[in-house]
Amino acid sequence: KQHFRLAVIPGDGIGKEVIDEGLRVINHLEKSSNGKFSFETDYFPWGCEYYLENGKMMAEDGLEQIKNHDAIYFGAVGFPNVPDHVSLWGLRIAICQGLDQWANIRPVEFLPGVESPLNHPDRDHLNWVLVRENTEGEYSGIGGRNFTGRGPGKEVAVQSSIFTEEGCERIIRHAFELARTRKRKKVTSVTKSNAQQYGMVLWDEVFERVSKDYPDVETDQWLVDAMAAQFVLHPEDLEVVVASNLLADILSDLGSALAGSLGIAASANLNPDRKYPSMFESVHGSAPDIAGQGIANPIGAIGSAALMLENLGLQNEAELINKAIRETTKEGLLTADIGGKNSTKEVTDGIISHLSKIHDKIKIT
Ligand code: NAD
Ligand code: MN
Repeated sequence: KQHFRLAVIPGDGIGKEVIDEGLRVINHLEKSSNGKFSFETDYFPWGCEYYLENGKMMAEDGLEQIKNHDAIYFGAVGFPNVPDHVSLWGLRIAICQGLDQWANIRPVEFLPGVESPLNHPDRDHLNWVLVRENTEGEYSGIGGRNFTGRGPGKEVAVQSSIFTEEGCERIIRHAFELARTRKRKKVTSVTKSNAQQYGMVLWDEVFERVSKDYPDVETDQWLVDAMAAQFVLHPEDLEVVVASNLLADILSDLGSALAGSLGIAASANLNPDRKYPSMFESVHGSAPDIAGQGIANPIGAIGSAALMLENLGLQNEAELINKAIRETTKEGLLTADIGGKNSTKEVTDGIISHLSKIHDKIKIT
């Protein structure tokens, strides 16, 4: 019997709403596992409300409090009364960098029954995955305001990026290893190394060196502007796409929008060394524009729960969730962002009822 301890950080806005739905799905699987595995959840009420009361986004010893859990399940942060850079740096980035979750895996999945803006003959069979460097690059936090002290109207701000050879190498290797587990075995590296001539040229050189260790994996290298167009025009050429912190962040929103909505995209912030727990969260933010209405799409968060179970060694259960999600969208149970009329809860209920049906089928055969 396996027992897992989850640190749950719902955060703000729809983060809280979708996390509840993911946990409902996990509870359902736990109950039908006949004691094979169980979960224990510890809640951490960190986020913008916590900040307004305590002056910080998480407890002082927050990382200590969560670093011995088996996984972290995260909603989203950000609410209009707290500056976005404060909420993001104070919680999500603090955890990713503090627990060395250096690989952010963001699959782009096309779901049956979900309208996509992409007019592609092979749409239903497209899927690729973004591998995002998650601890350095453009999110180095190094810089400053009013550098020259020249005052209002003449301010100069500096924002620096850090690219370390080790940081580049580990994420690029991770992308190659992931590609080896997939059908086509292809890695696409994305930079803007024509304009960013130090860090991103280093990235390119590391990519070329590492690729020699993977002769069985096809490679190509793109500049990010051209890659944005490629996402739209020839997504069938993509399989594993590796890029820096900022570039992969932008491309992942594009990918999920092409698949129909930000609300369906799942992600895993991995510490592949397994020294610290990994963190699982949907790609979207706290969506203040729809928060509190019960209409947020729960699929991104539920898909992230599937990535979490996979990371904990429950591959079959993870696959069951993904199957149930597809059955649910196919049936037309959809939230408004993907063209439907259903509530957050109705979509989750649909997913849970498909899980039960799949379970029953497995028991019969
Ligand atoms: P967002 O992802 O919150 O929302 C963008 C748009 O997509 C909105 O119109 C929203 O309604 C829609 N959307 C997003 N998720 C949805 C879902 N599950 N179902 C239906 N519609 C959905 O991005 P934003 O508006 O740029 O940012 C809002 C806040 O979230 C900001 O404070 C930002 O800093 C924060 N943010 C946090 C994270 C994170 O915690 N990882 C990520 C991105 C943005
Ligand atoms: Mn983002």
